[in-house]
Amino acid sequence: MNKSLRKTVIAGNWKMNKTRAGAKALIAELIPLVKDAGCDVICCVPFTDLDAALLAAKGTNIMIGAQNCHWAESGAFTGEISAEMLSELGVPCVVIGHSERRQYFGETDETVNRRVRAALDAGLKVILCVGELLHQRENGVTEEICSMQVKIALKGVAAEELGNIIIAYEPVWAIGTGKTATAEQAEEVNGYIRAVVEGLYGKAAADGVTIQYGGSMNAQNAAELLKKPNVDGGLIGGASLKAQDFAAIVKAAGAGGDI
Ligand code: PEP
Repeated sequence: MNKSLRKTVIAGNWKMNKTRAGAKALIAELIPLVKDAGCDVICCVPFTDLDAALLAAKGTNIMIGAQNCHWAESGAFTGEISAEMLSELGVPCVVIGHSERRQYFGETDETVNRRVRAALDAGLKVILCVGELLHQRENGVTEEICSMQVKIALKGVAAEELGNIIIAYEPVWAIGTGKTATAEQAEEVNGYIRAVVEGLYGKAAADGVTIQYGGSMNAQNAAELLKKPNVDGGLIGGASLKAQDFAAIVKAAGAGGDI
């Protein structure tokens, strides 16, 4: 498995944290810490922080992303933000299908697919989140769940668009719980997801797609996870809010887990 065929990407998911002032301060602290990163670095911030974060990160290697977008171009969807609105703001990237959106905001595989399609049509890169619940893992259906989520999310996505998709495998039981998947569990499912992508798009596409792991990744466990051949980076929640911790994960990723 040749990791050099794809990008390693460390993305922070700030969730509903940081005011604009806090966002500016965190990005200012991060800039010198990650300026020599050996991987791509993304901070996915709340909608209200986007323009401040874009300005703070301008001219640096930190890319700014959003955490969701709606599938419609416009219309009667109170409280929602369209992909075009993000794109107009200069946002290059968006998280879609995070488990918190699936759990608390009624997101389904079908709406994830519609949002993915809208984001791609607006020229955004997508971080597509998939992952099983604890009872699904305990019942031995992790692969079926991830396969279904990936296949439905990518319905109508052409092979040549896959370069704008990053898949984040995030076992729901490991998100915000402090309970990390072992490096072996992450490798197993990431490898499985790559096989699903191969089944849909062929080997070259599968070899080239970045598949992150997310779920309580931190400065201590990142290197072991990132060393695995199918783990091409991380989607980081809690630890992305502390500049030193996030930078340590970026450093581990840049070194291919060898630190
Ligand atoms: C996430 O929000 O995607 C996530 C992985 O959170 P945490 O790192 O806090 O588990």
